[in-house]
Amino acid sequence: MTGLIDCNNFFVSCERVFNPRLRDIPIAVLSNNDGCIVALSNEAKTLGLRRGDPYFKVKDICDRNNVAILSGNHRLYGDISSRVMATIESVAGEVEVYSVDEAFINFDEWKDEECIGIGREIVRRIRRNTGIPTSLGLSSTKTLAKIASHFAKKYPVYRCVCTIDNEYRRRRALELTEVHDVWGIGRRLAQRLLSYGITTAAQFADMSEEDILKISNITTLRTWRELHGLACINLDSHDIPQKQMCYTRTFATDITALENLEGAISMFATNITRKLRDNKLATQGVGVFLRTNSHHPERPQYYGNTYIQLDEPGNDTIIVTETALAALRQIFRKGLGYKRAGIFLPELVNEHNIQPSLFGDRKERIRSRRLMSVIDSINASSPTHDNVHLASYVPIDACTRCEKRSPYYTSRLSDIIKVKTSHGLQTTT
Ligand SMILES: [Mg+2]
Repeated sequence: MTGLIDCNNFFVSCERVFNPRLRDIPIAVLSNNDGCIVALSNEAKTLGLRRGDPYFKVKDICDRNNVAILSGNHRLYGDISSRVMATIESVAGEVEVYSVDEAFINFDEWKDEECIGIGREIVRRIRRNTGIPTSLGLSSTKTLAKIASHFAKKYPVYRCVCTIDNEYRRRRALELTEVHDVWGIGRRLAQRLLSYGITTAAQFADMSEEDILKISNITTLRTWRELHGLACINLDSHDIPQKQMCYTRTFATDITALENLEGAISMFATNITRKLRDNKLATQGVGVFLRTNSHHPERPQYYGNTYIQLDEPGNDTIIVTETALAALRQIFRKGLGYKRAGIFLPELVNEHNIQPSLFGDRKERIRSRRLMSVIDSINASSPTHDNVHLASYVPIDACTRCEKRSPYYTSRLSDIIKVKTSHGLQTTT
């Protein structure tokens, strides 16, 4: 069997672990720069708030209902996520981390009748080790396991673990699931299906294979087969090498000075090249774009972007940063206020399949690889990966607004919570 474990309202749950005052009250977590809602507690959902709502549009509703507003604390969420995943791995052998709050687990090492017990043990351990509530879905395919996890979350009767392990349950689950909630069916496909009168997963599963291929493609057919209990998506099979990558941010306030943009672009370049190395990829070139604040149409507007090819594909932070800064200087126009900028790497290759340049220096290449691996190993111990960085780098918090961010409880010594005891104030870990 395959399991999908999903952390319930993950960002909200992370905040509640360290701040019990947030329990049982409506909470909204905001995106970068406190722009949009990215996560809600169940209490906030019942007020009609939705993910993606721009905060300024729903501020009145939030104020009237005393909704606790928090800036996203992604360093905290990332750290708790890695603890959740480590806990899962302490029980299960084969785990595929799917997103910050979801992981697939291979249950084949256990007999079917043992799976629920093991699943409950995983949920219990995660709760004990991290304080995060989770839901586990179990079934013969990933897509069905994902549907089972929705039931596990929605209905307390399942006590956090739901299995779809026979034909009756499979059929019933599909009837109760809307087609747009099926993993792999996007909004556009759901709309197309609606025009054929298909609204539930069961109706979708009742279509013929020919009809599926007529209105969509082989990927959708795979989803269809998975709903019939035929496993088509293996553990890790989504791990298709990435073809491109980008790193963009909106700034808290408009940036006018070139040196401030250089700081931000250096930070983007540092983070994106680390990601390249993590994924054993290299880029063939570096693109940079800049955009003025479109919310102020009365001010001069400008969008600049350019792309510089590298002499040979690489993932060296120094080379990528230098190239990105050269690109930035080409497109920068004085006298404008920039609201958004980013780096894009549109042509990635496997780092082991690099075609070296005829004039490239082999020794230099080896030196670069060693330097990057030393920097990565030093930075691995820091949650922000920035113990060692280039002089032009500016930390992310300086670039974005996050006025209501909770402390970095788990990753910054000065942010560790303090508890009062009868002997006075003590620090706990
Ligand atoms: Mg979740």
